Amino acid sequence: MSIIELAPTPDAAQDAGATPHVRIAIVGTGFAGLGLAIRLKQAGIEDFVLIERADDVGGTWQANTYPGCQCDVPSHLYSFSFAPNPSWSRTYSRQPEIWSYLRDLAGRHDLHPHIRLGHELKAAAWDETRALWSVETSRGAWTAQIVVDATGPLSYPQVPAIRGLRRFEGTMFHSADWNHDHDLTGERVAVIGTGASAVQFVPRIAEQVGRLHVFQRTAPWILPHTDRPTTRLERRLYKLAPFLQRAVRTGVYWSRESFLLGFIKDQRFMAGAEKIATAHRRKQLRDPELERRTTPTFRLGCKRVLLSNHWYPALERPNVELVTDAIREIRGKTIVLADGSEREVDTIILGTGFHVTDPPTAKLVRGRDGRTLAERMSGGIQAYLGATMSGLPNFFKLIGPNTGLGHNSMVFMIEAQLRYVMDALRVMDEQQIATFEVRPEAMAAYNAQIQSKMPGTVWMSGCASWYLDASGRNTTIWPDFTWRFRHRTRRFETRAYELRHAADVPALKVAA
Ligand SMILES: Cc1cc2nc3c(=O)[nH]c(=O)nc-3n(C[C@H](O)[C@H](O)[C@H](O)COP(=O)(O)OP(=O)(O)OC[C@H]3O[C@@H](n4cnc5c(N)ncnc54)[C@H](O)[C@@H]3O)c2cc1C
Repeated sequence: MSIIELAPTPDAAQDAGATPHVRIAIVGTGFAGLGLAIRLKQAGIEDFVLIERADDVGGTWQANTYPGCQCDVPSHLYSFSFAPNPSWSRTYSRQPEIWSYLRDLAGRHDLHPHIRLGHELKAAAWDETRALWSVETSRGAWTAQIVVDATGPLSYPQVPAIRGLRRFEGTMFHSADWNHDHDLTGERVAVIGTGASAVQFVPRIAEQVGRLHVFQRTAPWILPHTDRPTTRLERRLYKLAPFLQRAVRTGVYWSRESFLLGFIKDQRFMAGAEKIATAHRRKQLRDPELERRTTPTFRLGCKRVLLSNHWYPALERPNVELVTDAIREIRGKTIVLADGSEREVDTIILGTGFHVTDPPTAKLVRGRDGRTLAERMSGGIQAYLGATMSGLPNFFKLIGPNTGLGHNSMVFMIEAQLRYVMDALRVMDEQQIATFEVRPEAMAAYNAQIQSKMPGTVWMSGCASWYLDASGRNTTIWPDFTWRFRHRTRRFETRAYELRHAADVPALKVAA
């Protein structure tokens, strides 16, 4: 009798002391993990588990609860094509609504029996003899034929290396881990960072705090936001005639896709957008000195382009100071600047982004030769189609290297990868494949091709950004049209892979 028959659910097996086995272990319950689970269920595959460290599903939209958090791609496109929501209350939804959309999907597709909340992945190691993964979490272990890493590119907050920061004597938290128990009313607050999150929460807290010091390293490009509430008529029409919503989605997709030309082909396209952003800044700011210090010094698009109608007015409030000098150190509750001046604060909020090019999960995953992914990729992370990696059999990374976008919806890229994974499962079943591993030469050729497209793009035009790794390589962005990515990932082409057929793999030895 197999372990699976002895123990129909993983938790029951853990209670019985055996290590439960599943066909697929998915780590993460954001758009990617939940999306894959839905696709598996739709294909009639039930033998999977979703491992999640947080106490609820939703990924990015569960973790980022800071005031003002919202998407910057219109909601009709920043949602699954197979699960449209005609009821979005705004054109760019706010975090509570996106989170609730994802939670609702998990419920509607009956994913909860598969989900293990509060289970943090601690290690995943490939066992070559048994041709399976050993997956350890903070609350139990599994074996799995396939591991899908859906831990997301923006899920490990980055804490800057500032002397004394960790010994700060006040309250400190990251925007992705907002401390809602802490009342900022009347406080002296420092915000470090002026990226996508800070631009959303600073205007919201500026009204509440006593004094706000915003520490800026580089001034971001900010375009006017076109967010607005949707009308009741729109929502009714989308409900009654879903093709209308699909038409809007398609229109948004292609208009955003056309922006890519400015990113990759001819940066003069960006001059037009820069003019709009400059006019926006000048219109909103009255103080010429502030206008000067908020003027970006790099080409629009080199870093993430931000949208806000409230950022510049917030900076001009009498209780807000924009600080552009570097921070030298933090002593007690005092922030000491490079010029020796000091700011004493009660709370520091880090709007300093995430570990993108150095994901901590890379240290948890051990491949065929016993080396971790981090060790294997010490020269820079790379993957084949942003999904599979040599040395890691039966492993997919969703939204892996070079799948990020500056111009369109990540959900589109996620859906393309979901299709790829599902096709791989189909091929495995049809051809009785027990293991697949991308050939190193296929991965190298793919990455050489990706990197050959980088020179001349706006991302490589000279700014420091989170798209680049420590050596200056862009391992984050997909430098092409997104439909090309979808086209390339439409089929699991076995010729790129080393395959072992079921007949060649010793059967999983299980309890008799
Ligand atoms: C504030 C914010 C706004 C954004 N807005 C947009 C937008 O408008 N448009 C856009 O295209 N993209 C946007 N993004 C990018 C966004 O991250 C992606 O669009 C998408 O949500 C990623 O989904 P994911 O499932 O890959 O990862 P995530 O949503 O990050 O989910 C990863 C999950 O893995 C879990 N996890 C991580 N490590 C472990 C572990 N060791 N063990 C167990 N579980 C683990 C996490 O808890 C999390 O639930 C935004 C990101 C942020 C942070």
